[in-house]
Amino acid sequence: MKVFDVIVIGGGLSGFMSAAVSANRGQRVALLTYGSGSLPLASGAIDFLNAEVPDEAIKNLPAHHPYKKIGLKNIDAAAKFFCDVTAQADLPYNGNLSAQIPIVTAVGTLKYSGLVPESMNASKLLDKKKIFVAGIKGLKDFYAAMIIDNLKKIFPDKIFEAATLDLKLLGGRDITCMDAAQLLTGNEQIFADALKNLNATEDDAIIIPPILGLEGNSSRAAVKSQLRAEILETTCLPPSPPGIRLQRAFIKYLQKSGVKIFETSKVVRGVVEGKKVTGVVVENAVREKTFPAKKIILATGGFYSGGITMREFDNPIEPIFNLPVFFTTGAENWSNENLFGDKPQGFSMTGIFTDANLNPIDAAGKILFENLHVVGANLGGCDKIFERSAGGIAIASAYKGATL
Ligand SMILES: Cc1cc2nc3c(=O)[nH]c(=O)nc-3n(C[C@H](O)[C@H](O)[C@H](O)COP(=O)(O)OP(=O)(O)OC[C@H]3O[C@@H](n4cnc5c(N)ncnc54)[C@H](O)[C@@H]3O)c2cc1C
Repeated sequence: MKVFDVIVIGGGLSGFMSAAVSANRGQRVALLTYGSGSLPLASGAIDFLNAEVPDEAIKNLPAHHPYKKIGLKNIDAAAKFFCDVTAQADLPYNGNLSAQIPIVTAVGTLKYSGLVPESMNASKLLDKKKIFVAGIKGLKDFYAAMIIDNLKKIFPDKIFEAATLDLKLLGGRDITCMDAAQLLTGNEQIFADALKNLNATEDDAIIIPPILGLEGNSSRAAVKSQLRAEILETTCLPPSPPGIRLQRAFIKYLQKSGVKIFETSKVVRGVVEGKKVTGVVVENAVREKTFPAKKIILATGGFYSGGITMREFDNPIEPIFNLPVFFTTGAENWSNENLFGDKPQGFSMTGIFTDANLNPIDAAGKILFENLHVVGANLGGCDKIFERSAGGIAIASAYKGATL
């Protein structure tokens, strides 16, 4: 079998980004994955850090933080590369590393992110006088009245109006945003006609659930071109059409770039010679198969996706290469009473420690494998949910891992 220049293990955001950057550098790349990663659940926005000016705040992080190993130059380059991938899939994103952009959440609060889909960029609300919030009859988990109640606290001077659109297309049963996005693809005119009935002007904005298609920007363009008002999508409960659009944008890019994608391919172990990994072994229903490679990127998603497991308390395991896993010891330090409190959760800091080349290291700082790079949610030492850095660390570590 031919030797791949790069094998990426894991098909989430960090795996896709690693494969995309590697392919862009002319490498022969294979991506091995099972399961779909967390993108279909995610908002589609990329959070760098919960700070007004993320790049300034990143400079002050402790030395063991993944961002300090990645470096600002790489984080910035990753943001640009990411926007290029999405632009090529006609899925425009706004933002950068130096500022935060608001998006409206499903409950009507504002969430600030570094890179946001243009369809969700709520800074466009600032100069609007009137805001319509339009739900869809039969659509679950979108409550216009609640969204308006919360937005009124943020924008007390604006006028709000709730609406419920009856799109006959959707039938009688309760549907999710995913169902609605699927049903409206190719039937955008029905939605556009319903929105036109609101008689919104260029001084207005219409906030809607994220149902403008599951791919690219074409559904949004078809609707928006018929309205004078700005149209904005909120986040939603999973499954999330904006996350799925992002996943599809990457898959399109990888296919175009010649990356070989092997789905339902669970990597069970590495083939190791001294400090080099020469290949990985995949197990499927029938047999095992070895994929030889010059370089491996481990993007298996940490605790959330099976990249790290823990059958016994205080004994987390990285199951493919048996890498040492950093974790917070002692049950009393494992979690806080308050899930969304004011300090990081011990369990959420669990992960693998690396050197500046993202090579895994042991407790003494010794490099374990010279051609294995660890990226994304696998990286330990920070609570990515608490500090709101999951997407940023995923794309930036992937960028660095792929360019080494
Ligand atoms: C509900 C939700 C909302 C989120 N919202 C945001 C947000 O608003 N902003 C933000 O920045 N981030 C958000 N995130 C985080 C973000 O989407 C990703 O979780 C994060 O970027 C980590 O990505 P990853 O690629 O490292 O891991 P994952 O996305 O978990 O992907 C890991 C992949 O590896 C595969 N894998 C695991 N083990 C193996 C193996 N042995 N062999 C082959 N494949 C394997 C898994 O099946 C999976 O496909 C959210 C996440 C969730 C779950």
